[in-house]
Amino acid sequence: MTLLASFLNSGGFHAIRDVFFLLIVVFWLALGYWTYKDAKRRLDDSTLIALSTAVGLIPPFVGPFIYMLFRPPEYLDEVRERELETRAIEDRMTALDIRCPVCHAEAESSFLVCPVCTTKLKQACTSCGAPLEPIWQICPYCETPIEAPAAGAPPALGTRRAHRRTR
Ligand SMILES: [Zn+2]
Ligand SMILES: [Zn+2]
Repeated sequence: MTLLASFLNSGGFHAIRDVFFLLIVVFWLALGYWTYKDAKRRLDDSTLIALSTAVGLIPPFVGPFIYMLFRPPEYLDEVRERELETRAIEDRMTALDIRCPVCHAEAESSFLVCPVCTTKLKQACTSCGAPLEPIWQICPYCETPIEAPAAGAPPALGTRRAHRRTR
């Protein structure tokens, strides 16, 4: 017993105890930092990130596990990526469902007129004849600038060619 007592009072023991205590503090702070980093990847709200970090630090060592029980299951990057994919799929779906505005027959994006009711669907490029989207400023196939359709004429129905013929 006297041997143990003298060891506990020795400088060597104090040094070991201090190093051990320091390691615990470093480990505690590292866990808090990990919680902060993880919360930042999962949360958008700075208040929630601060709250998560606080939970990661207090109670010590148990906090990160409590945080892990409540954290959002996905990283923000993954959520954004999934949203983009969903939007791309939706765009593709709407692109597939092109219909004639007059008779509602199915049409393809390359159609210039509706084959059922002969309604003009798209303007054709004056240079290469490619079907043009109403918002395009230039033909993407031959680089010919697109004139704005005459005012008053609906872009889906009126065409420049038809206009020229009537003039
Ligand atoms: Zn039609
Ligand atoms: Zn063209």
